[in-house]
This record gives sequence, structure tokens and C-alpha cells, in this order.
Amino acid sequence: MQHHTLDVEIGRLLSGPLLACGPDVTIREAARLMAEHRYSAIVVTEAARPVGIWTERDALALGTEAAAATRPIATAMSQPVRALPAHTPAREAAALFAREGIRHCLAVDDAGRPLGLVTQTDLVMSQGPECFLRLRTLACAKPPRPHCVDADTPFAAALAQMRERRLSAIVVRDADGGLGILTERDVVRAVAQGALDRVSAEVGRYASRPLRSLAHSRSLYSARQYLIEHRMRHVGVLSETGELTGLLGFADILRDLEHEYVRELQDALRERDDALLASRASLRLADQVVESTLDGVMITDLCGNIERINPAFTRLTGYAEHEAVGRNASLLNSGRQGAAFYAMLWQSIEATGHWKGEIWNRRKDGTIFLEFLTISSIRDAHGRCTHYAAIFSDITQRRETEERLSYLATHDALTGLANRTLFTERIALSLARARRSGKRVAVMFLDLDRFKLINDTMGHSVGDEALTVIARRLRDAVRETDTVARLGGDEFTLLIEDIDDIRHVGRTAEMLLATVAAPIRAAEQTLFVTPSIGISMFPDDAQSAKQLLMQADRAMYEAKDAGKNNFQFFAAPMTSCAMERIQLETQLHRAIAANELLLHYQPEFDVKTGRFSNVEALVRWQHPQRGLVPPDQFIPIAEESALIVPIGAWVLREACRQARVWLDEGFDFGRICVNLSARQCLHDGFLPQLATILAETGLPASRLQLELVESMAMTSTNGGIEALLLELAARGISLAIDDFGTGYSSFRYLQKLPVDTLKVDRSFLAQIGDPASGDGSIVRAIVAMAKSLGVSVVAEGVETPRQFQFLREIGCDRAQGFLLARPAPSAKMPRTLPVFENACDSHAMTNVS
Ligand code: C2E
Ligand code: CA
Ligand code: CA
Repeated sequence: MQHHTLDVEIGRLLSGPLLACGPDVTIREAARLMAEHRYSAIVVTEAARPVGIWTERDALALGTEAAAATRPIATAMSQPVRALPAHTPAREAAALFAREGIRHCLAVDDAGRPLGLVTQTDLVMSQGPECFLRLRTLACAKPPRPHCVDADTPFAAALAQMRERRLSAIVVRDADGGLGILTERDVVRAVAQGALDRVSAEVGRYASRPLRSLAHSRSLYSARQYLIEHRMRHVGVLSETGELTGLLGFADILRDLEHEYVRELQDALRERDDALLASRASLRLADQVVESTLDGVMITDLCGNIERINPAFTRLTGYAEHEAVGRNASLLNSGRQGAAFYAMLWQSIEATGHWKGEIWNRRKDGTIFLEFLTISSIRDAHGRCTHYAAIFSDITQRRETEERLSYLATHDALTGLANRTLFTERIALSLARARRSGKRVAVMFLDLDRFKLINDTMGHSVGDEALTVIARRLRDAVRETDTVARLGGDEFTLLIEDIDDIRHVGRTAEMLLATVAAPIRAAEQTLFVTPSIGISMFPDDAQSAKQLLMQADRAMYEAKDAGKNNFQFFAAPMTSCAMERIQLETQLHRAIAANELLLHYQPEFDVKTGRFSNVEALVRWQHPQRGLVPPDQFIPIAEESALIVPIGAWVLREACRQARVWLDEGFDFGRICVNLSARQCLHDGFLPQLATILAETGLPASRLQLELVESMAMTSTNGGIEALLLELAARGISLAIDDFGTGYSSFRYLQKLPVDTLKVDRSFLAQIGDPASGDGSIVRAIVAMAKSLGVSVVAEGVETPRQFQFLREIGCDRAQGFLLARPAPSAKMPRTLPVFENACDSHAMTNVS
């Protein structure tokens, strides 16, 4: 119980050495010593014996005589000193403090030598984090209303009020309404400073400010902590409205503790009486119950010798009363449980007084039965254990039936796999686990393609055999902890738990496709069966077992629609984002080898002359089902996996190859611009790979421009990029910062980089012509800045003649955009801008776009 800490001996509470002085020391000097050491009392000793004590409270008794401070301490100290042996329990000390209204006592050793002072503070501090201090609020402790005086009250008068009212602290109100506190400690300090010598001394001068306060809803515990932390003994208590309604001192906390202690003791006594009454009544009842119950009852002595049994015991074990009584309970031992089992059983009885569980015992006729047994120790009035009572019932039958029923109820008879009931139960369990672990769970619905055909043409027994084989394969294919179930017919479900990485699910599904598709030998024939798999994910797709199953089922039908022998993730229109990514990633793996990537080209034109100046290569993915996929939809996925490295290499090679072809055709396209991803160019093999590609395609380095997005170039923490750019520039390759304006470039840093082109992000140009969002001042500023840095500027996303006109006006170098040319396969790319002169006319747009 929480009060046990009160039983600590006071000798162990002494917080520091004894503060002592001789009897001739002046009061002022003694006060100074106390103030300096922040002690609340000083012991006056003579020849190492305590002769008196002077406390903060005694300081109040000084009265107002001016000469007081210069008197020897012996004239003001209290006598005799309260002394308690060091081994006095703290609880007793607390009681004494409360009874006699003292706040200190001397802890002495057996020879009466002082060891140190124990204070009320020490007692409170010794409590540790008592629960009830936490539970009780300041309001519960009913702290007394504070006594307030104005700051200009003479010090001596305030002192007198404290003494009269036996207050250990008063609140001092300043002229401006601010509050301070004058405690006994402040009184000591004031005396030390000579407050008593000056008639005009005002109490406000000696008060501590501000008065620290806590809301009355705070716990006593927190108040205690607060006091200890701030080395204070009083704290103001504020009402809901913020009004000062009480002044709580350590003494109040201690009083509250005492009060609680007594109350709990009374409760405990009352409970014991009630229990006694109840047990007397139950004794009478017990006899009747024991005789008539269907449970076997056996009472033994401490050695296990049977003293009493009931009729049910005879019925259950076959032993009559005269055969059992007097013999040891071990006559029932079946030998099925080892010594360790019994050791645990007895351990539990010793520790808790009882044991409960299932145990195999032997009847008189030798048969073994399972019983549910409760053993309790029986104690006498003094709490000594005198007997053991064993109460048991035969549960063999019940257990067997239960097991058989539960197996039938939860398993598929043909394959031995879990059935729908068990499966649903397992999903529910796994969802609970997943919610805790934050991991994912996948539910797979697996349906065999055209299985009905096998049943119809070869007979049900062949079909059954095939199902059994497939069941075993599925079971073997997944982890022990995953669940495989057969819902009926040719429908199987799988529960995959503990998923860290969704990609694992895709791989498992692929593996299941292969496993099931392996040839099956059944009834002298070889069968080929393929499955279609639908997958739903928790928490992505649904939150309940039922919904997950439904969604996996729906996804399975989609797999069937998609040509069977494949798997599909459940694709709800809104929530399937993650799944789509996984699917895309799986497919992207094959895209390069399957030659599904291609490049479109989009030219840049000189704004002044309208001449073709550069051309940017933009990757596309010709997806077998989705059609032409734009890079925004797969480059980020490729960047997350390492796929960006081979894809980036392919783009670079293809762009250089095309550029070389153009050169050979005599087409001066300027430079071919290729976009780079961070992960791609920070990859170790990047530089050698680039060199190889240039060498193999025969494209001069001066014809290549590499584009990095701003955020990437500006990652100054990444020294790697800076070094790489320098190396690229040294090889004669031109560098551009892409999407400029979207990051946080520092111009100073930009100047350090060997960059020769800025591509202004198209969002800035889009604002032009939209009066609501500005006047193109950002583009204007970027262009001006680029000029001052000596780099050229390209405006991206020119869509309207008006924007183009604007670029001309502000002197932007180059432009790229749908107005001038859309990205297109090389064969369809315009090589000139014939309508340039009219580019500002609205009809020009229709000509070029
Ligand atoms: P980006 O480098 O800023 O490429 C310009 C994008 O703006 C292209 O989109 C282009 O079609 C589009 N665009 C051009 N003119 C206009 C216009 O007038 N209006 C509008 N609204 N858009 C215009 P795309 O081809 O979809 O490429 C998107 C982004 O994908 C590119 O932005 C680039 O960051 C990235 N990307 C493209 N190809 C590659 C590549 O091979 N490797 C890497 N790492 N990233 C690439
Ligand atoms: Ca670009
Ligand atoms: Ca861009």
C-alpha cells in the first residue's frame, strides 16, 4: 500500500549535516547561517550536546524590540529540543509533528548524540509518488484562505499578525495589485538584514515575489513536486476564475496524508469484519454444498493425506470413502504430468493460495481421465495453512467432443485446410495484431481457372485429388504463420500477415501462380490447372474481415477478366493508389526489356530569331494495357526503386543515338537535353556509363545538355552533386537547372556551380495573362538575375501568344511550350518555326500545336 513508505525510519531521512551553533552566537548571525544554508532551523549545541533549537517559527516570536537581533541565540531558542531515536518510524514522527504542532525534531543515536534534524519537509519528501497524492486535488486538501496584508504595512506589524494568527506565511499585496508572499523564511532573512532595527521597514520590502500559484484542479502530488522543485513551502491555490482562494503549505499536504492513512486503516478493519461474518455463514452452507455437488471434492492435510471426500468423488474416481480416506492423494496420479508440472502447481498454491487448471488423473479401474481441478489452501484463524481442498470435474468427454466439433466447425473436410469460419476469425485476429504493429495484411482470393471442366470430364474423384494436391502446395508455399483456407468448390483464400513491404505480396502472388500451375498427377493423368488471384490489403482497402474478403473476391474476377492465370490487386477508384504503384513497378521491371520505353522530343526556340535552338528528350512508356504513360506517372516510382538507373541509362543512350542520327542527316538541332534524376547520377557507375554512351553513339559531349531539377542541384549537403557537376562541365557537357524557381536557390551557391542554363518553371509563365496572379514579375526577375550571372534562360510552358510576346519584351533567350511545339516522336518533330513571325497571332497556335 502507498503508506508503507511512511514506515521508513527517520534516521534515513536526514538530508544534510546538522546546522549548529554555540549559545552565544547572536540571533542575527544564526539567522544569517540559516538563510545562507537555506535551513529552516539551527540547533544550539554546547559541548556537542543539543541544548536548544531556533527555528523560523521562533523568529516570529522575536517581537518588535529593536535590540532583538543582537541578543545571543540562547535567549531566543526553544527548549528542550525534541529528540527522537533515529529508528523511529516516519509515521510516528509525522503523528507527533501533527499533534504538537512542531515542524522539526532531532534524530539522535542510541547514545543521544544528535545526528541531524528531521523536518516536516523531510517527511513529506519521503513519501515517494503516492497514488493518492496524485488522485487528490488541491481543492480536496482545503488549503486555508490566505491572510493578506498590504505591502506598505510595517514589517513589525505584519510579523505580529503572523504570530497572533499562527500563520507560517502571509500574502503581501502590492499597490499595483501584484501578489507576493512573506514566509517564515523571509522573516529570517529580514531579521538578518536588520528589518527589526528600522522602524520604518515595510513588509513589502521583504516579501518574495511573485506569489507562485497553482490551479485548484492540480493534484497534491504535482503541488508537492512543485514545492520541492522550487525549494518552497507554500504555494497559492487559484480557483477556476483565477482568484487566489488558498495558500497551501507542506503542512497541509502532510495533514492530508495523515487523514487518508487513518481512513484506509478503518476501511481495512471493516473489510476484515465483513469477511469474517460472511465466512461463518458460508461454513454452514459449505457442508451442504460439498455433499450434494456434482464436482468431486477431496480435503487433504498438508502432506496430501486424504481426510474427507464427497459422493461425487466416488462416482468420478471409483474409490469409495473407506478406500480413499487415509491414503495419499497421489493414488490418483496418472503419470502423465511430470515433476515440473507439480512443482509449478505447488508453487502457485504457495504464492497465491490456489491453483486452477486441467490435469490427467487415473481412476481405480486404471482408466485415465481429464479433470478440471481447483486446489485451494484452507487457512485457520491465524492465517496458517492447515488443509488443501481439491474440487474437480471430469471433462474428458467434454474436451473430446469440443475438439472434434471445433475441428469440424473450422476445417474443410477434404483438404484439412481452414474453412470460411476459421479464416474469417483469423483475419479478424490478424487485423487486431496489425493495428498494433502497424504492418499490413493481405487477403488473397484464389480461384482455379476452368476447374469445373476437370470435374465434369474426369469425374469428381480426380477433381478432389487435384484439390488436395493444390491445397498442400498452397500450404507449403506460404509461411507457417499465414493461413490457407478452402471456402468450398475450387475457391481458396490466403491470409498473409506481417507485411513490411507491399512488394512482398506481389512476389508471393507470382509464386503462387507458378506453384499451382505445375503439372498435377491425379488418377494416372497429368492435369494442368491455373489460378486467378485477387488481392485486398489492410489497411489500404478495407478495415473489416468481411470487406477484405469481398474486395479480394472482386479483384479475383478482374484477374479472370484480364485473361486468367494472373493476379490483381483490388482497385477501388480512390484507394488503389498504392496498389497501382506496385503493379506499375512490377510491370516497369519488364518495360525496358520489352522495348516499351520510347522518347518524345520537344524543341526550344530562340525567342529573338525564332531559330530552333535545342531539343529536349522526354521519356514515355507504351504500356500494353494503359497506353502511353507520361513520365510523371512512372519516373517517381522508378526513382523509389533502383529502376531509375537502367531507365535513365536507356534514355541517355537512346537520346544520344537519335542526336547522332540528326547530325548525320545534317540537322543542326543545337543540343540534345536529357533529364537526370538524383538517384541516377549519384549512382557510382554514372560517369563511366556516360562516357561509354558518348563513345559508343559517337555524340560529341558539346552536343549534350543534362538537366537537373533545382532542389537536386541545391542540396548543398550533398557535396557529391557539386563534384559531379564540375566533372561533367569539365568534359564539355552543358548543364541546366530545371523547374527553376520552385526550390530555394541561394544565388551565391548558384554562382559556384558550372551551370549555363536556367529553365524557368512553367508555373510562373502560366500566371501571365492572369490578372489575378501577378504580372510576370518573377519571370522578369529570374531573367534579370540569369543575365547578371551570365547564364541563359529558357521559359518553359509557353502556351499563349501573349506569353511569348511577354518573353520577347523582357529579353528571355529561349522558349519551349505547346504554342511552339508539343513533345512528339522524332519523325513528327518540327525542325523549324515557320510561323514564328506570326507566333503572336492567335491563329498561329493552330498551325503549330
Ligand atoms: P520537364 O523536364 O520540366 O519537362 C517538361 C514537361 O513540360 C514535359 O512534360 C512537357 O511535355 C511539358 N510541357 C512542355 N511544354 C508545355 C506547355 O506549353 N504546357 C504544359 N502544360 N506543359 C508543357 P512530360 O514530358 O510529361 O515530362 C514531365 C517531367 O518528367 C519532366 O519535366 C521531367 O522532369 C520528367 N522526365 C521526362 N523525361 C525524363 C527522363 O528521361 N528522365 C528523367 N529523370 N525525368 C524525365
Ligand atoms: Ca526538363
Ligand atoms: Ca521543367
